[in-house]
Amino acid sequence: LEVIRAVEPRVADAIGAELADQRESLKLIASENYASPATLLAMGNWFSDKYAEGTVGRRFYAGCQNVDTVEALAAEHARELFGATHAYVQPHSGIDANLVAFWAILADRVESPALKKAQARQVNDLTEADWFALRRELGDQRMLGMSLDAGGHLTHGFRPNISGKMFDQRSYGTDPATGLIDYDKVAEAAREFTPLILVAGYSAYPRKVNFRIMREIADSVGATFMVDMAHFAGLVAGKVFTGDFDPVPHAHIVTTTTHKSLRGPRGGMVLCGPELADQVDRGCPMVLGGPLPHVMAAKAVALAEARRPDFADYAQRIVDNAQALADGLTRRGAKLVTGGTDNHLVLIDVSGYGLTGRQAEQALLDSGIVTNRNAVPQDPNGAWYTSGVRIGTPALTTRGLGTAEMDATAELIHTVLSQTTPGASKAKYVLDPALAEQVSKQASDLLTPFPL
Ligand code: PLP
Repeated sequence: LEVIRAVEPRVADAIGAELADQRESLKLIASENYASPATLLAMGNWFSDKYAEGTVGRRFYAGCQNVDTVEALAAEHARELFGATHAYVQPHSGIDANLVAFWAILADRVESPALKKAQARQVNDLTEADWFALRRELGDQRMLGMSLDAGGHLTHGFRPNISGKMFDQRSYGTDPATGLIDYDKVAEAAREFTPLILVAGYSAYPRKVNFRIMREIADSVGATFMVDMAHFAGLVAGKVFTGDFDPVPHAHIVTTTTHKSLRGPRGGMVLCGPELADQVDRGCPMVLGGPLPHVMAAKAVALAEARRPDFADYAQRIVDNAQALADGLTRRGAKLVTGGTDNHLVLIDVSGYGLTGRQAEQALLDSGIVTNRNAVPQDPNGAWYTSGVRIGTPALTTRGLGTAEMDATAELIHTVLSQTTPGASKAKYVLDPALAEQVSKQASDLLTPFPL
């Protein structure tokens, strides 16, 4: 920090303040974690300065031998960890990984000479007519994914996202009575819509998904089955999700982030079989520019960590903790979407407390509990104010907190939400500052035996 402080002290201060915040508040954002020091350090070095467009051993720049080493290692660890034949570790984020997958599927499935030329880096040979044909051919393709308010991700076809513009898109939701995916309804939607791509995976669905059934649905309509396991990759890596619930043996292509339950650096990754491997490796230039070699180095470190036996124990504790949190909240009267969880996240329907998601999120933040507001299925408050708060256990489990601390956390959350009253707008609320301070202190005390 002193090296940074000598150049721009405000950045050094912000880094220090961020560490203090992450040390002292209950980090319950389901998509966050604490990467290991080895992972963090692998990112802060001279790899950051290197250009390495291309793939291992086939670069468009000279002097990439060390990048080749770390990229090959990251891919090898990923293949071994997930039992995949091919791993592409260059995507800079989850959204990039999904774009790479979409382009790979389009290139594999759509008969487009223009696309083939573009993929072969013969962009200069493409005529205006080729480009128009390309846009028409690709724009006609269909994608079926989980809707945002049911827990899907915006890259699964949400209209304002590029995925909703690239594809003719339709979504499946959850059963209004149970909050669960109704596979018969998904099959019906697939039969009616005949998508090119069926996407499974979620950001806010607190249950397992049966990928065997989803693959059968995809096969029945000739769709390519893609799973975005960004949220639960750590549970797959730790063998908590196996058999029908492990996406890798069932999907044609799997994408993920590396920074959520997998506990790596911020980044993305694509896994697939040999049929799609060539197309996936063309992520650059179709979607990506130069890879981030320092992040690939950190991916190799984090994936090596995830292959150790203690990661399986970690993954199981994530789920045990989420279930303890869900039980603790339910016992105190909270309303949970689907009534509980079998993964790493819990979605509280805070309308049960008479609050919007925005009010609840802010009241919890005032009290040292960091969460994020999230839509619940058929949310009357939309995606901005919402009626839900999403909480997850990967980060606190990394700190070492267990089921007893989860019950104490449930008590703190319930105390804040039941003592908060709605204000004059969907964003305003009233919470006694003394209570917020007292809960912040309790949250910080809860973390004291588990230093970061
Ligand atoms: N896919 C899913 C299911 C996600 O939950 C997220 C992030 O929240 C992403 C993709 C996008 O990841 P990133 O933020 O790294 O682009």
